[in-house]
Order: sequence, then C-alpha cells, then structure tokens
Amino acid sequence: MRKKQFKAESKKLLDMMINSIYTHKEIFLRELISNASDAIDKLYFRSLTDDSVNMNRGDFEIRISVDKENRILQIEDNGIGMTADELENNLGVIARSGSLDFKSGISADSQDNEENAAENDVEIIGQFGVGFYSAFMVADKVTVLSKSFGSDVANLWVSEGVDGYYIEPAEKENAGTVITLYIKQDSENENYSDFLEQYRISSIVKKYSDYIRYPIKMSWETSRPKQKADDSDENSVPEYETVTEDRTLNSMVPLWRRNKKEITDEEYNSFYHEKFYDYEDPIKVIHSKTEGAATFDSLLYIPKRPSFDYYTKNYEKGLQLYSNGVLIMDKCADLLPDYFSFVKGLVDSADLSLNLSREVLQHDYQLKLIAKTIEKKIRSELLKLLEKEREKYEEFWKGFGVQIKYGLYEGYGANKDTLKDLVLFVSSAEKKLVSLQEYVGRMPEGQEKIYYACGETVEKAQMLPQAEKVSEKGYEILYLTDNVDEFAVKMLGEYNGKSFVNVAADSLDIESDEEKENLKKANEDSKATFEKMKEVLGDKVTEVRFTGALKTYAACLTSEGELSSEMAQVLNMMPDAHDIKARTALEININHPIAEMLSNLDDEKLAKYSKLLYDQARLIGGLPVEDPAEFSALISELMV
Ligand code: ADP
Repeated sequence: MRKKQFKAESKKLLDMMINSIYTHKEIFLRELISNASDAIDKLYFRSLTDDSVNMNRGDFEIRISVDKENRILQIEDNGIGMTADELENNLGVIARSGSLDFKSGISADSQDNEENAAENDVEIIGQFGVGFYSAFMVADKVTVLSKSFGSDVANLWVSEGVDGYYIEPAEKENAGTVITLYIKQDSENENYSDFLEQYRISSIVKKYSDYIRYPIKMSWETSRPKQKADDSDENSVPEYETVTEDRTLNSMVPLWRRNKKEITDEEYNSFYHEKFYDYEDPIKVIHSKTEGAATFDSLLYIPKRPSFDYYTKNYEKGLQLYSNGVLIMDKCADLLPDYFSFVKGLVDSADLSLNLSREVLQHDYQLKLIAKTIEKKIRSELLKLLEKEREKYEEFWKGFGVQIKYGLYEGYGANKDTLKDLVLFVSSAEKKLVSLQEYVGRMPEGQEKIYYACGETVEKAQMLPQAEKVSEKGYEILYLTDNVDEFAVKMLGEYNGKSFVNVAADSLDIESDEEKENLKKANEDSKATFEKMKEVLGDKVTEVRFTGALKTYAACLTSEGELSSEMAQVLNMMPDAHDIKARTALEININHPIAEMLSNLDDEKLAKYSKLLYDQARLIGGLPVEDPAEFSALISELMV
C-alpha cells in the first residue's frame, strides 16, 4: 500500500505532537470523545428529519475499550462516520491551519532556542484544540476504521506518525467510527501505561467530558468475593472473582444545567478552554438561570485577553444556542451586541424550536428577550467587577476597552446609557485609570466641566501646553490616547450633567471674568499685528490672538468648533478621507515676554517669528512641522 504524505502544516503539528513535552497529554481523550460526540450529533440531527436513520436518541453511545496486554485503547462511536474522501480530507490536513500560520511567526524568532520552541509548542497545544492529532501524543500508531452513514463500504486509515498514512477498504457493519490507539511504551518521564488503566480513564472522562450528552461506556472489571456455597466452611479464606459490567462514565448532565454551588472553578475553566479554544482562564464566569418572560440557562465567559483575530474582520461574534440541551446554532450573533462581542458562552432555552433557521431566528421574539436579558447581565457583572475586583477589570479594559468605547460612538450614541459607566481613562491625578463617576465624584468646587487632552500617548497628551493651566487650577485631566476616544467622548456629550471639554479647544473657557476682560482689550490693541501674522500663515490658522490659558509655553494651537486636530488626523487615516482640516487658531501666551515683543518687530522679523511660533505650537501639540528645512533655517538664523 502506497503511503501518502501529510500536508506540510499537518506534518509540523504532528511532529509537535509526537515530540510533545506537553504535560497534559491526557487531553487526547477529551479531543477524541468530543469528535465522537460531534459525529453522533450529526447523525442524531439527521434522524429528526430523515426516516432512513433508524435510530432513537437512546441508541447512541461512545464506547471505550482497553486491551492492556497489547497496549490498545479504542474509542468507538455510532455517529455519522466518514467516507474514504472524508478520511483523507479530515485527517490528512489539519482543519484549523490558520492558527499554525499565526504561530509560526513567533517560533521563527526563537528557532535557535530550543527551550523557547518547546514552550511555544505547549502554547499552541493549549491554545487551539488540536483535535485528532493529539492522539499521537500517547500513541505511536493510530488507525481509524469508519463507515459513513448511508454508504455500504467502510475504510481503514492507518498512520504511524510523520512518515504518512494510507487508506484501504475494510469491513464494518454499522455506520460510525472506531479509533484505535497503540499506546507508546513507557519512558523515563511518562508512564503511558496509565492510559490503559480503567480508573485513570474514568477520571479523565469525568474531568473533561462529564457533560457529553451521550453515554460514554466502558466494560468495567471489578473483583469481588465469590458467592459462597451454602455448605462451605465459614472460616475458609475468601475467594475472589473478576466480574465485568458495563459502566457509563459520564453523568451526561451539561455543565450549565448543574447546580452552581456544586461546580468548581476548575470545571468552569476547563469547559471554557475546551469549548472556546482559549488557553487562559476567563476573567469572569457568569452562570445564571433566568425565569419569567424568557426562561433560559446561560453560561457566559469574559476572556482575559482578546484572541489574536478579535480585532480583525475574521472574528465572528456569537453565543452557542441550545434548545433543551441540543445544540441548534454554534454562533448566534443576535444574542450579543457588538460592544460585548468578546463574550463567549452559550444559551439553553426550552422556548426555542429545534429547527429554527437563521432567518426565522432574527425575528424571534423570545430570542430578542433573551438577548436583552443577557446584555443587562453582562453589563451588571462588568460593573461589579469594576467595583469589587478593580485589577481584573483594568486588565479586561486593556484588552477590550477600545471595543466598548467604539460602542459608545456607534449608533450615534444610542448605547451611551449602557456603556458610560464602564469607561475608563487615564487621568492626570495619579496617571491611573479612572471611571467617569470617580472623576466627577472628586471634582473640586468650582469645576464645572470634564477636561480632557488628546495625544498619541499619555506622555504626549500631558505635554499639551493648554493642559498646564487646567492642572494648575487643581482640575484633573483625562488623557485620551486611542483614536476612537475623542469621538466617543463627543458622542457622550456629558456625564452627570458635566460636559466634556478639550483643553485645546476654544470652548475651554478657563479664565476669570477679569482675565477675559483684559484679554479682550489686549487682543484689540494688537489687532494690526495679528492681522499681519495671519497673512503670513495663510489658511493654516483661522486667526492669531492672545490667550490666558497658557502658563510656561509661548504659543499653542487651539481648535475651533467640534473638530479637533486629533480627530482630523484620525479621519484623514480613513481610506476615503479628503484632507480634512481642523479649524485652529494660533494663540500666543499673553503672560509670556514674547507677547510684548511682537508689536515692536519690523515686518520681516514678525513674519519669521510668526512661522517659528506656529511650528513650535505644532511640535508641542504632537503634530509634525510642515516644512522642517525652513524651520531649521529660521532657528539657525536666530542663533547667529
Ligand atoms: P476538529 O474536530 O477540531 O474539526 P479534528 O482534527 O479533531 O479537528 O477532526 C477533524 C475532522 O475529522 C472533524 O472536523 C470531523 O469532520 C472528522 N472527524 C474526526 N473524528 C471523527 C469521528 N469520530 N467521526 C466522524 N468524523 C470525525
């Protein structure tokens, strides 16, 4: 029989499995059982509509058998089975190959470092359910005997690892699949024989696969004292006999249907790892039973970090949807709003019909009710986390804050009441994250507005010239560093009646009435000078004027109207942007020695100074100088 080669990626993975130092080798059983259960699901589904599937719910089972002497472990199911083509396509290539591509980038960097490479292997095994291939962690030969439902021929797939596999016709009576593992010999580090012990097998099944909805059966050998014949001698040494009985190893109750009090964190977490392919523990588990207008069980998880594809187009949001314990949809998007799209989990409701189509679901009243309830639940749990487990919440915020802020902005602020209390920004007070409630709660008397400064980083935002005067007044400033931030804040408009104001906006309004009066007068007096300066700068600025809002810096750019320079910068990054310009004024610090000097300069000098002041203001505002050559020439000229 000619051997076929595995596809390149499968080979890589296979190699990793065979040489794996992964400590949780036992998960191979979970993977094989979960495949068996999926295969049964498929046939069971079909039985609901197809009379040719002559099977009842109770006929389906997964069977584990052991032959210790020959080191053989078998997992058998009577599910849908595979044709020769399916064996070829499903087991010759790895399904989730994208995950390997992603990982290979990382391991390339650490190729010369073996330890590192091994660590990466562990990560990949943990991070992605690697499925069928994990069998090679414990077996040096694997065969798959399968008969697809409705087909009259069966096939045998055989592989001893990396050097390939072959498929040949075989005999099998009923549809389904038998996976046979030839368990490795024990090594110094690993006692593979363990996987042939019934107690060990049973405990692995209990640990990872307890909720599987079909019975996982095994013939169980127990030795017990022999029944004594009535006339035997009471004092004789008891004799033992071995009896074999069929045992069902799993309780078959789905985790979410069990009593919360009896479920351990480990059980919740391991269910999460297995079902939702995250190798880290979730930051929060929300398990609840809802009764009333909509009756359902839900088990929701908030991940610790975004998955590698979370912020890409490939990410699909959604919760698993069950009807009375039967999976009817793997990713029901309608159950989650976009701003909570990171939530993983499932909903199980008896109110939903088994054969709901996607189109019907969208209009399903029950489903809408469930979605509303779930949204409220997620929100209140996040608020609880913020209140009671601040560190965890901040970790969550680092990963998913952008998504929530985007949610504020989306839909013209329609969700602001849901989301405004979840938002955090770094503030000038301690350079720590604060909520809006905290900010408003500690506003000193006299402060009427919520001040914010924008910049690429906190450090840059902090440097904005206009921030100084606001800080001096004892007012806290929120630093907005994500592109979406200012848009979100604009959408919010206010929080608890306090409006938001950009420290670099003309609406800052921080001067006292007297200061304003003086400023007005000074501006009138210098009108002619400012007009000349404006002429030099052209349409780069709307006007030139004095300001009282600066402390040490000589000049700054202040945006007028709703569009700030930062927002304009973000908008200009969009693919269809047309050189959007924010309206900005060049403001000169009225308390700076330069203010007095300006009116005494001749026209030539004034022109040069105007350019220098404008460039300085751009630099300090985190914007690039438009003509660096001219800027540097002007500075050199000043120096000599
Ligand atoms: P995954 O289960 O994550 O898709 P696997 O490598 O575990 O990846 O399995 C690949 C595919 O092989 C499955 O998607 C399924 O189509 C098929 N398969 C595996 N085991 C069985 C089985 N016992 N019965 C039928 N099909 C199976």
